[in-house]
Amino acid sequence: MPELPEVETIANGLHKRVAGDRIESVWVGAKPEPLKSPATEISRVLEGARVQRVRRVGKHIVFDLESPGKQDESQWIVHLGMTGRMLVCSPEVETPKHTHLVAKLGSGRELRFVDPRRFGRLEVRSGSFRGPGAEPLQVTTQEFSEMFHPSKAPIKAALLNQKFLHGVGNIYADEALFRAGIRPRRRANSLTRAELGKLHQGLKKVLQAAIAAGGSSISDYVDADGEAGFFQIQHRVYGREDKPCLKCKTAIRKIVVAGRGTHYCPGCQK
Ligand SMILES: [Zn+2]
Repeated sequence: MPELPEVETIANGLHKRVAGDRIESVWVGAKPEPLKSPATEISRVLEGARVQRVRRVGKHIVFDLESPGKQDESQWIVHLGMTGRMLVCSPEVETPKHTHLVAKLGSGRELRFVDPRRFGRLEVRSGSFRGPGAEPLQVTTQEFSEMFHPSKAPIKAALLNQKFLHGVGNIYADEALFRAGIRPRRRANSLTRAELGKLHQGLKKVLQAAIAAGGSSISDYVDADGEAGFFQIQHRVYGREDKPCLKCKTAIRKIVVAGRGTHYCPGCQK
């Protein structure tokens, strides 16, 4: 499942490819699951609109649209779910199975939404979409501490709670806790200011490193000739159960917190 860094990479890649382009016509498939807004509404909003900007909000890709003769801004919001992909390609490229939307662009190319497992969602809205919670890369350490300090939940669960921060998923929560030296089951309200500060820094670092690593593999997501698949930065704890910690050689342990597989080093994390 794409997490914040992947979605940011994809949104930036789409921005480079389609910002300024106009959507001329839209084909929407018959499968109902991917459509959070009715098909007719999606077509009505997208057709004739110019893509001003593509950006990430939480784990959503947001297309800011400008429509001739319409005062209100509207937005096309795409959630990739587990297996969703947005492809930009020429119309000659064969349309893959599980394509749920094709937007023909003024530049002659097509923008396609492909999703085999159909957990992805397409939605249109007017006004400015902000999503719940705060952006992890934008909150200050002060705000971060104030957000988590009152919570009695295990810190890992609190990090995953989208009401606090949006876009932080399982992998980066584990990696951030490792960098901060904090065990995932600790209650958020048991963390000192200093620990919360370290956690905030750790989270920002791991997200930024992943975004930087993603830049080189962007073609895998948005160019139709690329293969599906997500890049990975070297994880320090996630997916490394029973392997020696890269820092202290203690075996990485896997437990379940908030219903999610959680990895930590008993040596480095207190
Ligand atoms: Zn360790």
